[in-house]
Amino acid sequence: MNLLLAGSFDDAERARWHEVLAAALPQHRLLLSVDGVSRADIEVAIVANPPAGALRELPGLRLIQSLWAGVDRLLGDPTIPPEVPIARMVDPALAVAMAETALWAVLSLHRGFFVYQQRQRQALWQQHAQRRADEVGITLLGFGAMGQACAQALLCGGYAVTAWTRGAGAPVSAVPGVQRINGHEALWRRLADSDIVINLLPLTADTSGLLDATFFGAMPRHGAIVNLGRGGHVVEADLLQRLDQGLLRHAVLDVFPIEPLPREHPYWRHERITVLPHAAALTDPRSAAQVVAANVLALAEGRIPAHLINRARGY
Ligand code: NDP
Repeated sequence: MNLLLAGSFDDAERARWHEVLAAALPQHRLLLSVDGVSRADIEVAIVANPPAGALRELPGLRLIQSLWAGVDRLLGDPTIPPEVPIARMVDPALAVAMAETALWAVLSLHRGFFVYQQRQRQALWQQHAQRRADEVGITLLGFGAMGQACAQALLCGGYAVTAWTRGAGAPVSAVPGVQRINGHEALWRRLADSDIVINLLPLTADTSGLLDATFFGAMPRHGAIVNLGRGGHVVEADLLQRLDQGLLRHAVLDVFPIEPLPREHPYWRHERITVLPHAAALTDPRSAAQVVAANVLALAEGRIPAHLINRARGY
């Protein structure tokens, strides 16, 4: 099969992806451009935020395989052929990395380590009260591949975990010990008891701007948020206002509507905000190439590829 690799990569990234994918797919031809090949012969596009129009006029295309877990930018491209199935990246290595980040953020917030960091800069020797992990209420927004891995890690750390979903995905038995809730009413009730909210939702029409003044207003004053989903989930002005007024304790933010986060953005210097450069969980080309290879094999053998998204619901 002819496979097209299309993404917004720099040269080194493109070379790395080409190397690992070519090694994982030795019986297929991996192309970096459509030049010199009939467009109708390209059957799979392996993509990472491809430039708009990159997949236009590929009449033989049978699968779009994303190298990233989130497909919101891909779905936002009107030139992506509507009839071709899209598979997103579901890689256990990605979930492990996400769980590490969630655990770090929760431990840092629960034990006040971000505050101690600031006190060090002031040479201030001052302890604060210490709570047990099981006294800290964690709410996960989203309980998919990422949310479930985070829940496992947090349960091992002794935290009380509640997960909010649409109710369509993971069975109730997934990750025993996690309380499951659906629907907005249940979410608003739960927020009042949420010390830390971790966002791991996909960005869709339903979830865009969910973390707004009403959402933050339903949380306790000592509450904190950890946004590992997408920047578009948070209404920035509302978050800054709550933090500035002391009505929210801290925000750990990994994702932003504009990335890289502009240098003049107030988040960078805000004492109640911790910024990460969209690094909560990076796709590891080594393991991701195996995931891609398994899906290309499925297609070649006439099986349905794994982790196809539902375009209508947006994830
Ligand atoms: P999944 O598709 O596996 O899971 C999505 C979860 O969100 C499901 O539990 C789903 O509910 C829930 N959900 C979706 N829409 C709604 C809604 N309207 N109301 C309530 N719950 C909803 O995705 P992943 O776990 O793999 O990834 C989630 C997101 O994490 C990605 O889309 C991406 O944006 C982000 N991400 C960020 C990374 C980073 O480095 N910061 C790295 C990787 C991913 P249900 O179970 O009912 O279907």
